[in-house]
Amino acid sequence: MGELTDEQLRRYARQLVVPQIDMEGQLRLRDAHVLIVGAGGLGVPMAQYLAGAGVGRLRIVDDDRIALSNLPRQIAFSETDIGELKVEVLAQRIRAANDSVLVEPCPARFDPLTAEEFLCDIDLVLDATDSMQARLDIDRATYSRRIPWIMGAAVQIAGQWSAFDPERHHGCYHCLIADPGAMETGSCAELGIVGPVVGLVSLHQAILALRYLVGDDLPWGRLHMLDAWSGGLQLLEVLAREDCALCRHGSSQHQPD
Ligand SMILES: [Zn+2]
Repeated sequence: MGELTDEQLRRYARQLVVPQIDMEGQLRLRDAHVLIVGAGGLGVPMAQYLAGAGVGRLRIVDDDRIALSNLPRQIAFSETDIGELKVEVLAQRIRAANDSVLVEPCPARFDPLTAEEFLCDIDLVLDATDSMQARLDIDRATYSRRIPWIMGAAVQIAGQWSAFDPERHHGCYHCLIADPGAMETGSCAELGIVGPVVGLVSLHQAILALRYLVGDDLPWGRLHMLDAWSGGLQLLEVLAREDCALCRHGSSQHQPD
């Protein structure tokens, strides 16, 4: 683990004085390799903030192209980018802001066939997909490799996020969606979304990612449910299920605190 350069010391000066980050945390961020699945309303702000904070390597997977209806939320993009690949434009913006970050834009879909390639050498996965099926695929692929991941979802004025530990000691996404109360009811494309709501969820995921990468413990297996209109936040503990199709978490192994 080498030292920071003079330029990096100046760049991260405001963050280095924060005790939760400090020099050691900054070096850990620099050496981290994060996968972001999705370069839309969740993926754009989180990628920009993680790059801004000095996360050294960001792999971003999305096969979508920029459309006019993306611009209210995906604030790195401009009208002249319409029709371009999201990951390519986002990578350009990130490199322009911080050329010490290694960005790997992957214009593809994350699915069970591509998971092996995209999870190679990854410390943490951030879900920015707007798709339950994609989250199920991320859950399965990361569990088999014991990689932690942070889900996020937003529709209309409501947002959700949760972190899943590498071993799924606190349950997994498959455990969560077996609970009808925690089920999603539809996507942003169907039900709509207010831009800052997805931004809020994205930045909560980014904070959890920074905490994990600097070595902090996370509130694993807790679903955060935000009503962004009222500001109300509720927490739901993910019930690790003995009959879970993925982690088969024995109830005897898990004592809720
Ligand atoms: Zn499970």
